[in-house]
Amino acid sequence: MSGGARPIVAIIKEESRPDASRIRGMVREAVDLLGGVGRFVGPGSHVVIKTNIFAPYPPPVSVDRHTTAAVVELCRAAGARRVTVVEGVSVGTKMGRGETTERVMRELGVRRAVEQAGGDIVCLDDTPRVRVEVPGGVVHHQLDYPEIVLRADVLVDLCAMKTHVNTLITMGIKNFHGLLTDEEKYYGHRDDLDVKLVDILRVRQPDLVIVDGLLAMEGDGAGEYGVPVPMNLIMAGDNVVATDAVGASVMGFDPLDVPAVRIAAHARMGPADLGDIEVRGRAVEEVRRRFQPPFNWFRPVDRFVTGSFENVHVFIGGACPWCWLMTALIGRQLGLTAPRQWSVIVGSDPKVPSRLPSEPKHTIVLGDCACAATGPVKELRNSLLIRREGLIAPGCPTFRPTLARLEEYLVEIGAVTAEMLEMKRLFIKQKCFDYYRKVDPTWEPEPVAEPAAGSRRGGAEGEESP
Ligand code: SF4
Repeated sequence: MSGGARPIVAIIKEESRPDASRIRGMVREAVDLLGGVGRFVGPGSHVVIKTNIFAPYPPPVSVDRHTTAAVVELCRAAGARRVTVVEGVSVGTKMGRGETTERVMRELGVRRAVEQAGGDIVCLDDTPRVRVEVPGGVVHHQLDYPEIVLRADVLVDLCAMKTHVNTLITMGIKNFHGLLTDEEKYYGHRDDLDVKLVDILRVRQPDLVIVDGLLAMEGDGAGEYGVPVPMNLIMAGDNVVATDAVGASVMGFDPLDVPAVRIAAHARMGPADLGDIEVRGRAVEEVRRRFQPPFNWFRPVDRFVTGSFENVHVFIGGACPWCWLMTALIGRQLGLTAPRQWSVIVGSDPKVPSRLPSEPKHTIVLGDCACAATGPVKELRNSLLIRREGLIAPGCPTFRPTLARLEEYLVEIGAVTAEMLEMKRLFIKQKCFDYYRKVDPTWEPEPVAEPAAGSRRGGAEGEESP
């Protein structure tokens, strides 16, 4: 971060849910407090808005369509030649829910709202990409970056305000994870995810950040397991690190407890200290609400891994935080299959007893590290392979393909049925839709064909990121 004027973050808040017209007014007022939209958008420019719609659920999982339309209108009114909203849904949404970005955009009514506001939509799933160098990149030295985002005259980061099991919060910095290819997204879901998020910013920082905090999320976000928090709040900022720092503080968190904010500030991309940020509009203290953090942020994650379920015996050693988290989520799923006794073996050097407390067919070796461990774990793997029993599930990180294999295995051995998994998915989706209909009675999902049968793999449990 170079010296000079302090970054500005503006906060606008209403006491109750604003309608579409007031949301437009809130967005405009927030940007006016930064100096007006003309500070960012010039006549004839091409504005690209990276929104946050990573899964097929309305707010608070996704950015509100009214907020998206309001930003499009504001840029068009400033003389933008073209305003394009871009997004690519998560790996989990594609694999676990069998969805595409286009389908999600239509079903949630985002495509219609954007087009009515004078914008267009580009789904990042199959957009042209250019290989770019990442200056100073740590995890990524090169990225296949969407050409439309790279070439945009103005880049707007339109993000949601949510807690996140991996990153504590997801806001402006995390939103750009959605710019990557599926392979690049998948690779990052490890303990170096936050370093990677900062790498993405090294390619290009947004010119303007808009935070949709109308309906925010707390608890086990950032997907359908989070809890809605009506905040009725819009923020705007001219530096993404400063905006996330203020947003974290609004949510009751110390900005330095958010790893990506801390790492980005350390890389001098913006300030994490609120004393170095000019806050306009409402004061942080006036609007602050203490959000419930995700389960693994208010207790050590091993509370949910070892000794948590009577029928799940975890043998973990030399594992990084992602495998701890995934083991917690998998343990929750296996816990439902009691009285079956399970052994789950995780990490680079797990210690196992000479006699496991499970039958071979209820033994899982999870992740690349455990699949390459030597000594007794190697002997155990060999024995499972010879017997053709149990599940040896490689993967690093242990994410969707691994979860998919686990689910298929549970169905194969009759621990759950495919119908049970599908019912659970539909039940959760219905619950999210019903809730948002009450928040915004003008909303109805647009009818779209259901994803093709067999297109979902590994969608029962587990969080993921945009
Ligand atoms: S397989 Fe190993 S390196 Fe990969 S996420 Fe698990 S513990 Fe970490």
